[in-house]
Amino acid sequence: MSFDALALRREFPLFAAVPAPFHYLDSAATSQIHGAALDALVRHESTRRANVARGTYRLAEAATAAYEEARAAAARFLNAADAGEIVFTSGATAALNLVAGAFGATLQAGDEVIVSLAEHHSNLVPWQLLRDRTGVVLRFLPLAADGRIATEALPAMLTPRSRLIALTHCSNVTGALTDVPAVVAAARAVGARVLLDGAQRVQHGPVDVQALGVDFYAFSGHKCYGPGGVGVLWGRGEALAALPPVVAGGGMVGEVTPERTDFAPPPQRFEAGTPPIAAAVGLGAALDWMAGLPWPAIHAHERALLDRLLRGLAGLPGLRLLGPADAAARHPIVSFDLAGLHPHDVCQVLDRHGVALRGGNLCAQPLMRHFDVAGANRASIAPYTTAEDVDALLAGLADAIRVLT
Ligand code: PLP
Repeated sequence: MSFDALALRREFPLFAAVPAPFHYLDSAATSQIHGAALDALVRHESTRRANVARGTYRLAEAATAAYEEARAAAARFLNAADAGEIVFTSGATAALNLVAGAFGATLQAGDEVIVSLAEHHSNLVPWQLLRDRTGVVLRFLPLAADGRIATEALPAMLTPRSRLIALTHCSNVTGALTDVPAVVAAARAVGARVLLDGAQRVQHGPVDVQALGVDFYAFSGHKCYGPGGVGVLWGRGEALAALPPVVAGGGMVGEVTPERTDFAPPPQRFEAGTPPIAAAVGLGAALDWMAGLPWPAIHAHERALLDRLLRGLAGLPGLRLLGPADAAARHPIVSFDLAGLHPHDVCQVLDRHGVALRGGNLCAQPLMRHFDVAGANRASIAPYTTAEDVDALLAGLADAIRVLT
């Protein structure tokens, strides 16, 4: 199956706007926005701009319908049982904090939340805050030497007080995919809920939350070809319904008196105030566009580029791969350490080659510590990435090693 990444690239306005040479290898931080998402956002703002779920005039009803259609698109993308299971947030971070706040409010001191040492700070620090506020116990799943989450250690860690297992679906450092069936089986054995941080998974194709069997799923629009400022928390219907609100304001209430308030059912219970309406509409367009892509061919394309990158990196002096050395059970995110070189210096040299590369602690300091480095460089591959991008990276790295050592 062949896939034309160059043709796909032309559907992304940014690639026409930035002068060559330009090799964007930071889609794990932010993917480029697809033209359909941008058009939907602009069309909404220029033809349907009004607040949602409030006004009774036609423009407001059109805005509400477009916003609810975006919710339906997110439900289709995740194969959610019902659009009412989709909560729009400002991003994955807000979605994860929402679970920490709302699910956290149902926990008692001594209840346990399990995360791993490979989490992005967004799925670690909210749980630390919860622990410090409530006396909930935070436990850490260990990692294998290559950074994979050692899910085989989970059954022995779980106790009758284990309430939630909150893990990344795909590591933002190594690209490794978490063994979700093992996590769900272990969780079910003790009646714990499972939250997946899907921030890095969603840009590689639709997700089936029902098949995964998890309870909560979080992701950001700007990492899956949609606008910034919007994200999704999916929650299984009965799991969401059991949660109290954490942020209060307009739109999430039933009857309000000076003394007390009835709260609306999900998803409105968790969408206080004016939501990111146009961004949600743009995200809905991005998700619909993604749903129509030839994913098996794209995955073959990404796999070929990943192999090319791993082969090229293996030949560079002083380079240590952080993460699995093979292409199995991972998405195409590759982090590495260059002995004696600061990741930011490497990025600067690469920028002279027109290569946009990430460097730093990657918002995953415990994982950096596991690898015994302060920071790393990271290249991430998306469907619009080409072999020329990978080759430019490899040539730029060889140059960085030459000029910086
Ligand atoms: N989780 C993971 C695995 C991530 O990679 C990121 C962003 O890099 C986040 C959560 C947070 O996403 P956002 O900054 O869009 O809220």
